[in-house]
Amino acid sequence: MRLTTLGTGTISLSAERVCAGHLVEAGAVRLLFDCGGGVAHRLAQHGLPWREITHVAFTHFHTDHVADFATLAFAWKYGDRPGRSLPLTVIGPEGTTALLGKFGDAFGEWFRNPGYVITVLEIAPGQTLDLGDGVVLGATKVPHTAESVAYSLSRGGRRIVYSGDTGYDPMFGEWARGADVLLCECSLPTEVSIPEHLTPEQCGALAAAALPKHLVLTHFYPSVERIDVRALVAAHYAGPISLASDGSTFEIEEG
Ligand SMILES: [Zn+2]
Ligand SMILES: [Zn+2]
Repeated sequence: MRLTTLGTGTISLSAERVCAGHLVEAGAVRLLFDCGGGVAHRLAQHGLPWREITHVAFTHFHTDHVADFATLAFAWKYGDRPGRSLPLTVIGPEGTTALLGKFGDAFGEWFRNPGYVITVLEIAPGQTLDLGDGVVLGATKVPHTAESVAYSLSRGGRRIVYSGDTGYDPMFGEWARGADVLLCECSLPTEVSIPEHLTPEQCGALAAAALPKHLVLTHFYPSVERIDVRALVAAHYAGPISLASDGSTFEIEEG
């Protein structure tokens, strides 16, 4: 499996980091976790197969996680001739069908009937979905917005866990236990922390419980970039830590 962190920033607009979005390529599955502003162009910038994305999975409905889905859908429809024919599956928590309906209300016919089949699957916390070719997606509830979920994606005995946006919850650390890659938000320093996001110390505490083979941090607000994130996390967790950039790739050898 290969993970590419396309958007490692937030809605705090940055020249280096666009909003949240991460591509996992696993066998025949090309799944985009979140699609915030800037992610569609990042796919092209890094030469990734944006035309052949098979699944999009939203963690929650904040703009910095969903807004570029409209860009991508418009690109699939009109960015090439002929437009997309490959079916698409959109996955998200309860409310995803309604969200896409509102996009359809805003953008009209080309969005509602794009010329390819869109399957929308609302995933409940605790549920798993078989995405085909040995890929299984799981979800768990996390404390951020009412609908927010985190995801796991497994194939060939390997597991990637993506926190989405979350506050601190030890249950998430338990759920993520043994992940090969834990892609975890790391939004704010302790001095300006809020219950809906994680600090580096909290990322370290979650990683100490989850013991991932590799902790990859993302979703950095500018204030957290001014402190020594790595040292604060390492005080709790001794394993490998990466601070992802837009375009970082992580290879996960399947067993
Ligand atoms: Zn966010
Ligand atoms: Zn959010």
